[in-house]
Amino acid sequence: MSALDRPLAARRPSRRQSEPSVAKPDHGADVEVRDVTRSFGPIHALRGVSLTVARSEFVTITGPSGSGKSTLLNLIGSLDRPDSGSIWVAGAPVPDPRLAVEFRRHMVGFVFQENLLLPYLSAQGNIEASLLGAGVGRRERRSRSSELLIEIGLLDRADHLPSQLSGGQRQAVALARALANNPQLLLADEPTGALDTESAKRALDLLEALREQHGMTVIIVSHDIAVAERADRVLHLIDGRIERS
Ligand code: ADP
Ligand code: MG
Repeated sequence: MSALDRPLAARRPSRRQSEPSVAKPDHGADVEVRDVTRSFGPIHALRGVSLTVARSEFVTITGPSGSGKSTLLNLIGSLDRPDSGSIWVAGAPVPDPRLAVEFRRHMVGFVFQENLLLPYLSAQGNIEASLLGAGVGRRERRSRSSELLIEIGLLDRADHLPSQLSGGQRQAVALARALANNPQLLLADEPTGALDTESAKRALDLLEALREQHGMTVIIVSHDIAVAERADRVLHLIDGRIERS
């Protein structure tokens, strides 16, 4: 039985046994998107999108392929910049991508469909790599990554390479990596898109448990109905616009 097959309760560490070595945010970031447009040549990917996400809220953005979901998520995470409009996270404008190193390191965590773990690093090494970038010392990297491996139920897979893990386990490691620096906002683009139904369900269980533990705001882009069902709120993006329901 793999670690991910264990019931959720068994996977949750006791806070007393594993105190966090990095300060947790008290709560998630709020997000405010106002009249954002983004075009790629003649393609109007976003045609004036506005939305507000409250602190620690879990919002899913659905919509058909090509409706602008990834474009919107990338703008919120400062992987790209809007043509017009404004985006605020935790009360501050999202910085320009060229100046967003700190923002991307400490404010947001990203999870993608293909999670792009470094193939030559172990599960633990992949989690530690994101702490290395943030200047966390070796001993703390080890304890923090161990703590996250416990949280995702994969401490016994710490030394496994990504190729030695299942798709669901890799996605769990990607989630742990995204949360390593205690971001106040988790952005996930089709995080269950490459998983079978059962693995997707476990990944969502894990995400919910981590959200409970860490308190971050979660925005997931997905056309997976199972993801939408978990969210506090579902927004529909159609042809570059939010459809009000
Ligand atoms: P979704 O994630 O909802 O499938 P995207 O946000 O990826 O949609 O894309 C929205 C539209 O913008 C699509 O027509 C897509 O082809 C186009 N697009 C997205 N990114 C780029 C890019 N970097 N260059 C050119 N066109 C792009
Ligand atoms: Mg997309």
